[in-house]
Parts: sequence; C-alpha cells; structure tokens
Amino acid sequence: MNAKPENSPGTAGGCLCGAVRYEINDKLRGIVNCHCSKCRKFHGNFGAYTSIKYTSLTLLEQRGLKWYQSITDETPNVYRGFCSECGSSLFWHPRDQKRIAVAAGSLDDPIKLETIGHVWISQISDYYKIIDDLPKYEKGWE
Ligand SMILES: [Zn+2]
Repeated sequence: MNAKPENSPGTAGGCLCGAVRYEINDKLRGIVNCHCSKCRKFHGNFGAYTSIKYTSLTLLEQRGLKWYQSITDETPNVYRGFCSECGSSLFWHPRDQKRIAVAAGSLDDPIKLETIGHVWISQISDYYKIIDDLPKYEKGWE
C-alpha cells in the first residue's frame, strides 16, 4: 500500500458552476473510493473522496450549497452537500464527527493525490469491477 499522499495547505475547489467554492487548510488524505449504494446514487457512480478536518474547510461561496440528510444504520447524522444550481456532488459530512469527506473531482487541478483504497465493496454494483490491487474493505475505512 502506498503511503498516504498529502497535499499542501490552501487547496481549493468547488462545483461545476461556481455557486460553491471552498478552500482547505489541512493535509488531504489520499482518495478513497466508496462503492456504497448511496454514494452511487448521489454521484451517479462510486464516490471518490479525500478527507479533512471539518474546521479546515472554508466556504468562499455557498449560495448554491444544499445539504441532504442521508442517514444509514452505520452512519447516522450524515449530510451530503451538493450544488443546487449545477448539481455537483461535493461533501459527505457525518455531523457528529470532526472530519468531512470532500469529493475528489471537485478539487481544482492539479490535485496531487492518489487513490489509496476502496470501501463498502459489500455494496458494489454489477456494472464494473475493481481492477487495481489497492486495499478493499467490506464496510468503511479502517
Ligand atoms: Zn454549481
């Protein structure tokens, strides 16, 4: 397994149309692909996320930001953030935790992160296969 790549502070990103823009002042975890059924619905495919301290996220523009409460037995109190103007999926936030997951595709290039693993492969769909040798977890990231 690769060492967890880290990015430099000040990383920025946002949605497709610009109605949500953010800045991150934290080291970013490598990208983890989540194959749960809810991420697939939310993203239209598996979810690819980095993870940061919630307090390190600064919203520079949030006029489009909406939060959808996305509760499961394993993850109560989870909210998924998206842009209500262009539809970009952006955040996964368990509000009782100190971290927030940020959709990798919403980060501005160059992202300078590598994919480090897969979670919730117990819920993977049948239209694709994981063909890399990265760590795989039946449920969440260990
Ligand atoms: Zn937008």
